Amino acid sequence: MTYTIEKVTTLIGARRFGASDAKIGFVLTDSRSLCFPEETLFFALKSGRNDGHYYIPELYRRGVRNFVVTEVPADYATEYAEANFLKVVDSLEALQRLAERHRDEFNIPIVGITGSNGKTMVKEWLNQLLCDDMFITRSPRSYNSQVGVPLSVWLLNEHTQVGIFEAGISQPGEMLALRDIIQPTIAVLTNLGDAHQENFISKEMKCKEKLILFHDAKTVVYNGDDPIVNGCVNELEDFKGERLFWSLKDKRAPFFIKSVEKKETATTVTYIYKGNESWYSLPFIDDASVTNSFACAAVALTLGVGVDVLDERMQQLEPIAMRLEVKQGQHGCTLINDSYNSDINSLDIALDFMNRRPDHQGRRHTLILSDIYQSGMTTDELYQEVGMLCQQRGVEKFIGVGKDLQSHAYCIGVKAKYFFESVEELIDSDVFKQLHDEVILIKGARRFGFDQLTELLVQKVHETTLEVNLNAVVKNLNHYRSFMKPHTKLVCMIKADAYGAGSVEIAKTLQDHRVDYLAVAVADEGVTLRKNGITSNIMIMNPEMTAFKTMFDYDLEPEVYSFRLLDALVKEAEKEGITGFPVHIKLDTGMHRLGFDPHKDMDELIRRLKRQNAIIPRSVFSHFVGADSDDFDTFSAQQFELFKLGADKLQAAFDHKILFHMDNSAGIEHFPDRQMDMCRLGLGLYGINSRNNKIINNVSTLKTTILQIHQLPAGESIGYSRKTYLERDSLIAAIPIGYADGLDRRLSNRRGYCLVNGQKAEYVGNICMDVAMIDVTDIDCKEGDSVEIFGDHLPVTVLSDAIDTIPYEVLTGISNRVKRVYFQD
Ligand SMILES: *Cc1c(COP(=O)(O)O)cnc(C)c1O
Repeated sequence: MTYTIEKVTTLIGARRFGASDAKIGFVLTDSRSLCFPEETLFFALKSGRNDGHYYIPELYRRGVRNFVVTEVPADYATEYAEANFLKVVDSLEALQRLAERHRDEFNIPIVGITGSNGKTMVKEWLNQLLCDDMFITRSPRSYNSQVGVPLSVWLLNEHTQVGIFEAGISQPGEMLALRDIIQPTIAVLTNLGDAHQENFISKEMKCKEKLILFHDAKTVVYNGDDPIVNGCVNELEDFKGERLFWSLKDKRAPFFIKSVEKKETATTVTYIYKGNESWYSLPFIDDASVTNSFACAAVALTLGVGVDVLDERMQQLEPIAMRLEVKQGQHGCTLINDSYNSDINSLDIALDFMNRRPDHQGRRHTLILSDIYQSGMTTDELYQEVGMLCQQRGVEKFIGVGKDLQSHAYCIGVKAKYFFESVEELIDSDVFKQLHDEVILIKGARRFGFDQLTELLVQKVHETTLEVNLNAVVKNLNHYRSFMKPHTKLVCMIKADAYGAGSVEIAKTLQDHRVDYLAVAVADEGVTLRKNGITSNIMIMNPEMTAFKTMFDYDLEPEVYSFRLLDALVKEAEKEGITGFPVHIKLDTGMHRLGFDPHKDMDELIRRLKRQNAIIPRSVFSHFVGADSDDFDTFSAQQFELFKLGADKLQAAFDHKILFHMDNSAGIEHFPDRQMDMCRLGLGLYGINSRNNKIINNVSTLKTTILQIHQLPAGESIGYSRKTYLERDSLIAAIPIGYADGLDRRLSNRRGYCLVNGQKAEYVGNICMDVAMIDVTDIDCKEGDSVEIFGDHLPVTVLSDAIDTIPYEVLTGISNRVKRVYFQD
């Protein structure tokens, strides 16, 4: 579906500058995701830190001709002769308005889903329950924000029979806009939890905000057993629709859950819907899944799915793998595994993700794709579009699996293309055996069994892995940015291999989110980043005298903390004929580790800097000794004064602006008024608040599996030197992680614990080099089960507290042989 530019201008009430004809099929808010420039309308959005207007020149160069802006470039008639600028007061509002008008075109059932948790699960499961009979358009992944919702609704097209969209809010006032865009005919509230409670006065307030989504719906679906939700729904004024709530207690509920029976791997739910008793089984037993299934069932029944069909499809529900996994593959390959779903929108998103990851080796981009079902288009249209996407997104090798793709090979314009009827056929082929040095996106409908493919392609790893959630890194970044003024710059500390999380992937993520500087400890860490395609500014905190040349060659900006270092650096730079190389001057204000003395050294420092032009001070900084504790507030204030004394002196001696910085993670939060020009974010990025030892968004999860379980009588001892004796008959499990992996030996003999199937299992006996033993007597578990050493469910601070250290030590102690696996939503 396309709109003429005239139509768009009217729909959003804009003033138009420029007179070129155009048809709009795509809307864009992030310049990095550009795909079809000619038909794209770019909305220049302003957020706290970023301004879409900056990207207009670049986008124009890349072929975009249509822009929604709040300020029209002064030179639009000459520099942008072919462009249309639609001037509005607020470009986000304009985007929302356009989506709203687009929504008005459709007279079909639209499901709007809100709630604190489970939105995505309900959306995806509804899709799985309905997609065999209807063509569904739904939010890609979890696009549920003020920007995400309009982008999702824009995807409605002439084929759509049902739309399913998520609406997420974090503060008062946000739902109204989302409701107007989605205009749900069926509105669902999954549950009411504690998320974002800090922005609401009470739970009722938050509930009422969410229920704005319900106002004009024909049917509303919610948990009638939650007194707050129930109360708020009953208070809705003028609501004339159907209240389709579920309840486990109220027999008169329109969707009464008579019983929930959990078996080993499945749950059977018996329900009475509008007077008729029936049941369904689903292949999950956890509470969240079971509760979310109630909402799915109620909506599916409303949309006319029969009770038998519902049962049949519920049994087939697949878990929601919400994330793109990046894995190290064999033979120099990197795998991006997206077994999430295989519709065309998610293909586009995954290809975009592949392209955004810098790859210094310039490896070939390969796509392995299965047939796509339920697209609502003819197979011809569908595979033409797949072909076009491959071309636009730079796919260099295409491997298709399935009969439809095979018979539409002509649609794929990629030179190197291969087609197979099944995964087995692909696995037996030379094409498969010869995969090497490629970035491979694997995307297949589950029924094609692509998991076999991934399993064969990944490097076999030690069973102990550190899972790193890149999304959480971004959330933490934004959390700390929220304390900072919009123009304060940010250094992200990724020393010590990004506090154990792996500096290359973390750096890629941070670069993508436009941080100003990355900082590592030594030059070699910086070189590794450069070799992996990182182009951001990089600071070296502990520059070695032997590595100056490397720093010049790779644009790595050293910290300078002493006269000896300064002189050696200048000498080497002059020898290389270098001028104006940026350096960062460190002042010692109380840590007494490294740095110039602000009282004694400044005059001499300025004198030496002035008599050469090989290097120039880009910034000057110091470090708080105790920003994480109020106990040191007086000392911190003294440190800050001392810093200002030295830094002001330095600045006064130079004409160019020198950046001042002092705040680390704790400082950003505790001393926002001392942020000056720049802050240095370390531990907070990895999800740990050192001021209260709480987890913000957990980034790293260290996992392993049970190797063997022994049944042992009371009185037996465990491990080397018989340090633990069993006081009762016990089940003891061995896990393949030891102190050589970074599992601290001080956790031995019941001082620490890990989690097995969510339950605490203490370490018994001394932790060995490669193996540890844990007590699983009271835990329902078996060999092969997963064990969490720390992570999403067991904060790393519990471990560091148990052994009287700080989380930094635990995180950075995880050895290199533990494979890092990265996730991104
Ligand atoms: C490591 C480091 C930081 C970051 O500290 P966090 O407490 O991890 O935020 C900041 N500045 C300097 C000089 C550092 O060495």
